[in-house]
Amino acid sequence: MFKKITHFVNGKEMPGKSGRLGKVYNPATGEATGQVPFANQKEVNFTIEIAENAFSEWAQTPPLQRARVLFRFRELIEKQLDDIAKIITSEHGKIFSDAKGSVLRGLEVVEFACGIPQLLKGDFTENISKGIDSYSIRQPLGVCVGISPFNFPAMVPLWMFPIALACGNSFILKPSEKDPSTASMLAELLKEAGLPAGVFNVLHGDKRTVDTLIQHPEVQAVSFVGSTPVAEHVYAKASVLGKRAQALGGAKNHLVIMPDAPIDNVTSSLMGAAYGSAGERCMAVSVAVAVGDVGDKLVKALKPLVKKLKIGPGKDPNSEMGPLITAEHRDRVQNYIEVGVQEGAELVVDGREVLLQGYESGFFVGGSLFDRVNPEMRIYKEEIFGPVLSVVRMPDFDSALKLVNDHQFGNGAAIFTRDGDAAREFGEGVASGMVGVNVAIPVPTAFHSFGGWKKSIFGNNYMYGMEGVRFFTRLKTLTSRWPKGVREPNFAMPTIR
Ligand code: NAD
Repeated sequence: MFKKITHFVNGKEMPGKSGRLGKVYNPATGEATGQVPFANQKEVNFTIEIAENAFSEWAQTPPLQRARVLFRFRELIEKQLDDIAKIITSEHGKIFSDAKGSVLRGLEVVEFACGIPQLLKGDFTENISKGIDSYSIRQPLGVCVGISPFNFPAMVPLWMFPIALACGNSFILKPSEKDPSTASMLAELLKEAGLPAGVFNVLHGDKRTVDTLIQHPEVQAVSFVGSTPVAEHVYAKASVLGKRAQALGGAKNHLVIMPDAPIDNVTSSLMGAAYGSAGERCMAVSVAVAVGDVGDKLVKALKPLVKKLKIGPGKDPNSEMGPLITAEHRDRVQNYIEVGVQEGAELVVDGREVLLQGYESGFFVGGSLFDRVNPEMRIYKEEIFGPVLSVVRMPDFDSALKLVNDHQFGNGAAIFTRDGDAAREFGEGVASGMVGVNVAIPVPTAFHSFGGWKKSIFGNNYMYGMEGVRFFTRLKTLTSRWPKGVREPNFAMPTIR
């Protein structure tokens, strides 16, 4: 069935009228399954006006009542978990169990946001000076915009809007045009949970829609997750206009393997971390740093595992790895494999050879493994975002740590070792926002916060947790006195003595 996707504005579906459309595919079959409208200036203006009007009442709704909407939303997501995951699998391609897991990781943020009455309590100091009290409160910003990538169509939007809404903002989500249907489903569930119309809206679109949204004077904050060049563009554009912005970008996550690390444990962790979701995760491990003499045994152990990866459509429960998102992205990943060969890296397993019977038009690339990659190669320097793992050999811990720290990206990094000293030194010295010790993908849970360093982030606030509450609120500090009688004027700076 060919689906005509609509925007979701003011509590209902809004068909696109711009005449600009994108195609949505089932990546496993290569078949176009739907079309998505790209919002124009008029549709953006209309939606922002709706969100602006809905904001004042929502902002004044007591935090406990806002939390109750999120409690109901939480229950509805749990109930519809399989249906949401099915949509993700059909448009993104990732395997069903992985899609479900990603929704559950997003659900954690809803659960965190349900605690908003506690989180917004503020600070109070009695008698900052004699007879004077002071208190700090956090107030919502207004209309906030979220722009999300294709690789987590539920989880990444869920990093943003539950906290934005809990804090009393209204929200416009611009999901990826490559897998847009999940966003519409989340909007329907929020409506069912009792969220007033206009507080949460979904506008579909591309670069033009994003730029139009950012430029609008009523948009107070922009939360972005996607590739680094776009993150930089969005951050620069929004901040020059005086808007609050956070923009999370690309990654090249390293996993350092010390000579004392048990190799079976390393390889099983690496398989999931490098090839899960076909490598289309911002926390995927794409570089294995083999320290000392680890290289030979690591590659020997990995090779058969990569070769026997079960590749197939995400809806098949036997599949371990699904297709890539689009034909263009498959070609891009295949091209990187060719670049690696040309650059002189040793291609141990070539995923370009994969052809699946019955799915010949699907966007599949098999697991690929390079050995003897060096830091000058493009396959090392650039983000491939596919099922391609590069092994870089380093003589010792110091050179391995330096390698990680010299990379332009600093999203996640991990070390596998039994040596507490090495682990501690790595944790302290590594220039990455999220660090794992014998944990390959150290994605923080919702009550901590998510974000990288260096070119993996633009802006100062991470996603979700208290960082999310800070991002989606403005701090105000009130100082109050109830004097008796008339006070003399004081021309000196007030001090506390
Ligand atoms: P992308 O940058 O192409 O697109 C992200 C969003 O920006 C989409 O909604 C898209 O419509 C919009 N967009 C695309 N080009 C634009 C432009 N020129 N101007 C304005 N908006 C534009 O990213 P993607 O391909 O959807 O997602 C994959 C990327 O996201 C990878 O680089 C991955 O590492 C990154 N990512 C990062 C994190 C993180 O937390 N750091 C999480 C998930 C994904």
